Amino acid sequence: MYAKCGSLESAHKVFDEMPERNVVSWTALISGYAQFDRSKESCGMFNNMLVEGYRPNEFAYASVLSCCDREFGKQVHSHTVKTCFDCYMYVANALITMYSKNKDDTHEAWMVFEWLKSRNLVSYNSMMAAFQTSGKWEEAVKLFTLMRHESDIGFDRATLLSIFSSLLFVKDCDNSYVKASCLKYCFQLHCLAIKTWFICEIGVITSLAKAYADLNAEISNLYNLFKETSGIRDIVSWTAFITIFAEQDPEMSLSMFCKLRLEDFSPDRHTYSIVLKACAGLVTDRHTLAVHSQILKHGFGNDTVLANSLIHAYGRSGSVHESKKVFDLIVEKDLVSWNSMIKIYGLHGQPKKALECFDQMNLPPDSTTFVAVLSACSHAGMVEKGTTIFESMTKSYGIVPQLDHYACMIDILGRSGRVQDAQKLINEMPLKPDSVIWSSMLGACRKHGETKLAELSAKILQELNPNNSLSYVQMSNVHYSNGTFNEGLDIRMQMKGLGVKKDPGLSWTEIGTRVHEFGAGGVHHPQRKTIFNDLEKLVEELKGLGYVTETNLVMRDIEEEDKNRELNYHSEKLAFVFALKHGELKSTRRAIRIVKNIRICVDCHNFMKFASDLTGREIIVRDSNRFHHFKKRVCSCDDYW
Ligand code: ZN
Ligand code: ZN
Repeated sequence: MYAKCGSLESAHKVFDEMPERNVVSWTALISGYAQFDRSKESCGMFNNMLVEGYRPNEFAYASVLSCCDREFGKQVHSHTVKTCFDCYMYVANALITMYSKNKDDTHEAWMVFEWLKSRNLVSYNSMMAAFQTSGKWEEAVKLFTLMRHESDIGFDRATLLSIFSSLLFVKDCDNSYVKASCLKYCFQLHCLAIKTWFICEIGVITSLAKAYADLNAEISNLYNLFKETSGIRDIVSWTAFITIFAEQDPEMSLSMFCKLRLEDFSPDRHTYSIVLKACAGLVTDRHTLAVHSQILKHGFGNDTVLANSLIHAYGRSGSVHESKKVFDLIVEKDLVSWNSMIKIYGLHGQPKKALECFDQMNLPPDSTTFVAVLSACSHAGMVEKGTTIFESMTKSYGIVPQLDHYACMIDILGRSGRVQDAQKLINEMPLKPDSVIWSSMLGACRKHGETKLAELSAKILQELNPNNSLSYVQMSNVHYSNGTFNEGLDIRMQMKGLGVKKDPGLSWTEIGTRVHEFGAGGVHHPQRKTIFNDLEKLVEELKGLGYVTETNLVMRDIEEEDKNRELNYHSEKLAFVFALKHGELKSTRRAIRIVKNIRICVDCHNFMKFASDLTGREIIVRDSNRFHHFKKRVCSCDDYW
């Protein structure tokens, strides 16, 4: 009785004073300790019981297994084999659960499960949990099918949660066919959850939504799922949905955050840090500012983790200045604070400040610091400095360079034209170069006209990443630049034949409180015609200043005039003319901000330089890789990106 109420000391005293003990009294105490997670005492009692010659029953085994560590658990397991208790369902379930906690023990769990003659729901759920821990989603799916077909046990909430969570591992799978079939499977599970009413449980919907999101389901379906949770949401599910949308649709994520506040939920620091992630994906820092003031109001002003998220959000949404303000106010800067600040400086093409920050660090740098510093060097073409820092990593700091560091270094060498040195580094590096490394090599070869090496890099890239369009696009561009249009065209055809799709170029700009999206060729926008006319007029004016379109980059072998036209329609140019015309008059001093999903091309870069001069406006373009601040015909990247 004492043990059940948690008065374990009293229970132990009674036990000590007992004139005669039996297996039941030992078991009561072992399970009492186990229940309250006092593993040391529970295991100790179990040992004593054996020493005193008692034979444990199934409950003693199950109790000690529920709280012991892996090593002790293995010993208990071999004991159960000797006493034949491993065939008891109750003990076997406890063994599977014990093994399910460690991702390397899935095989052991499976052995126990397979030997078991009669299984119940707990056996299946524990085994499913073991597969989930080790990321073996295919096995989890197979087991669930087996469970449905070969037994009439049914399933419960825990089963569904396990199976959804195990599907999250498909996220890292490169095979789009597998992803598509998992998505179908997820849909079937969704139907099953509706039929069995489990869909009414908030935990089930939330993990279903997470699985859908990781399997790249349509965002509208996710939104519908979110709507279904209306009225039953708690702060955990709110945060889960805000997290799901933060990357794919930051605006939606932010509007959910506003709704959460309207429904009188109090965001915690975790919710804030997620919503700041969403803010980082937006065109301007307007939203970051708003969330920042709420953070201060809620008394989280001194929270270093949130301050770090603010540095990131301000920096990514264009305000390096605000990032620095937050950084300066942090009383106890941790490694993430320093790393974030260095990274933001690099992103905005301010390598000197990044290096200054690196020199001022009062903490020993880690591997991430070096990625940030080296990428700042690479964005600025600082070859010597970059090399020195790269070498100092091992010599002065004892940090072994990883793939990320090699990628930066190869980028540094490649961009500055030292393509041979970059290739030498690839050959000498102790790690197997990944697709990031080969794509920067390919980029460098394209820039410096190294056709042969470009072909090699493209070939390796296609092997590593057959579904990625980058290698095909870059390689065909190498040919177009060289004037070998037919070869370039062949590659495009090959890419089409293999079903590899190129990411469409999109740009966004914010007018008032509305974000406008532009696709290449302007197909998306209702005011398409007017925008084209304005753009053509502007291009003529820019030509007067000396702007010449870079025709090499056009993807097709077409007439000169058409080439110009196609380039004029790149989405960032369309966004620019639109923002110029519709932005508020009083804000003409403010910068025009544009976000682009892929890297800006040479021609658009030139265009922006001349346009900043002609209009007297600062233009800030964030492409997939970095920020470009255009002012008076100069870009902060020094034409190096
Ligand atoms: Zn362009
Ligand atoms: Zn630039």
